[in-house]
Amino acid sequence: MIVLAMEKKIYSLRTNVGYFYNRPIGYTKEFEQFFDEIFIKPDLNLRNFNIQYRLSRTREGLLLQAHLTANMEAQCARCLIPFFAPVKSEFEELYTFLERFQEETDDETIPEDGYIDLGSLFREYLLIELPMNSVCKKDCKGICIECGQDLNEGECEHTDSRVIYE
Ligand SMILES: [Zn+2]
Ligand SMILES: [Zn+2]
Repeated sequence: MIVLAMEKKIYSLRTNVGYFYNRPIGYTKEFEQFFDEIFIKPDLNLRNFNIQYRLSRTREGLLLQAHLTANMEAQCARCLIPFFAPVKSEFEELYTFLERFQEETDDETIPEDGYIDLGSLFREYLLIELPMNSVCKKDCKGICIECGQDLNEGECEHTDSRVIYE
């Protein structure tokens, strides 16, 4: 088997929840997962991704309560170098089991095969948590707008036009 050095670690976070259908209302189950490194399609690289969630059978479906922490790959708004920013997210999501004559609903529905894709759900919630203009370090000096010199690495000749960040 050939393993590429740059291969991304892709794990499926598709989870079977179909069996909850036959569980009594109020039945809950806790889950915990940890990934050193994970790529969530199409664009999310995470490290130290800690997932804790609880699924509870409700009258109409399932309540998902999740608590996530991770380091998310982001680009520094000043020096443009990728770095890992700590993010965390806590949220609830309601899923309903599809009934044959069900009226329209705004809730997520559980597909007939019983699998929900937690990866795309977690991705959505984590991306919201990434602050705009996040920086690799508090005192990142950014790059020179004239020559592109990384000012963390050293000075350049354009000191006057340099943007100073407080
Ligand atoms: Zn930076
Ligand atoms: Zn310069």
